[in-house]
Amino acid sequence: MGLMGLLRGMGLTAPKKPAPRTRTKARVVPTTVTQLRVAGIDQPVEVRRSPRARRLSLKVDGATDTVRVTVPPRVGDAEIAGFVGRHLDWVHARLAALPPRQPFIDGMAVPLLGRSPVIRHEPGRRGGARLVDGPAGLELRVGGEAEFLNRRVTDFLKAEARRHLSALTAETAARAGLRASGVSVRDTRSRWGSCSATGRISYSWRLILAPPQIVAYVVAHEVAHLKEMNHGPRFWALCADLAGDVDKPRAWLKAHGAKLHRFG
Ligand SMILES: [Zn+2]
Repeated sequence: MGLMGLLRGMGLTAPKKPAPRTRTKARVVPTTVTQLRVAGIDQPVEVRRSPRARRLSLKVDGATDTVRVTVPPRVGDAEIAGFVGRHLDWVHARLAALPPRQPFIDGMAVPLLGRSPVIRHEPGRRGGARLVDGPAGLELRVGGEAEFLNRRVTDFLKAEARRHLSALTAETAARAGLRASGVSVRDTRSRWGSCSATGRISYSWRLILAPPQIVAYVVAHEVAHLKEMNHGPRFWALCADLAGDVDKPRAWLKAHGAKLHRFG
């Protein structure tokens, strides 16, 4: 509370000052998210009422298997249900076309930076997952109970992603005479990486499931943003300089990126 507020709060009046120039404050309408049952769809439909939406739009999100409608703020549920109802065939076709979900299970080969360690469950052993380069090839040995295996492998991969992406970012940035102010790893669904104005770079941990050239490209992309906060010609020149190849990794992510979201 400022001095004026303090004075008012105590029931006092502050000396009159010349009236400030009035400015109309833009009213910020936040996006709201609700769920709606629509006949013909087993799962609830996610409704996002967004002030930026100009019309109704429908999406099937392959990362979360969510059917999502984005609408302007004042559109009612009946109108939304009608809209989705007219596109039921499309929704079902999109849901059916999603690649199968792949929880991490015993015996499965995990794509890991171009290698593919096989998951070996060791029920008697305590502790998390560890990579072992044994006589049978590279294995990811996971202790504990079977019901936690998927979670333990995911935790291991997240930690690997944090370690690898931090090191690769520092190395790539150093080649360009740049430095990121920090690196974090999340489970972002819409972007593989992002770079803030303060130089913080964030990645999806799922990048670790992609081949090394793809990871190198995403890292080069975000590092290039440390210098060029845009996607102009100078940005792409720097990005290509750091990544070697840009076109093939971008095409790969377009073709295979959705599958990386199906793991775990
Ligand atoms: Zn970018």
